[in-house]
Amino acid sequence: LRAEIVRVEVDKFGQVERIFRTTRAAVTFSLEHPQLVRTMPRREAVEAIRYRVFNRSQGNCEGCGEVITWETGEMNEKLARGKGGEQSYTNCEFLCHGCHQGRPDSQHGDRRWGGRKQW
Ligand SMILES: [Zn+2]
Repeated sequence: LRAEIVRVEVDKFGQVERIFRTTRAAVTFSLEHPQLVRTMPRREAVEAIRYRVFNRSQGNCEGCGEVITWETGEMNEKLARGKGGEQSYTNCEFLCHGCHQGRPDSQHGDRRWGGRKQW
């Protein structure tokens, strides 16, 4: 089984900002910013975004400030992918279980980072 390769936007330091939803989106963006588009395995891109969001949280829920860990925190997409949201550094937040489950549009099962099968 070959790894799925995706196109991503990186910042000037090479850190992954987002996974493009479509090839067209990536091509359009690359016309303006060819140096900021890379290809990599999807798994690698997802992990890179997760680590960045986790680091940004500094171990505190980005909703209520409660102390959380890599194991207890959960990833939330502010704008769901089904509604056009991207897998990106800015569209994702690291939340405690209470905040995550309290989201009105939450459609998540268990998306804890420790037991993550998918995100
Ligand atoms: Zn919270």
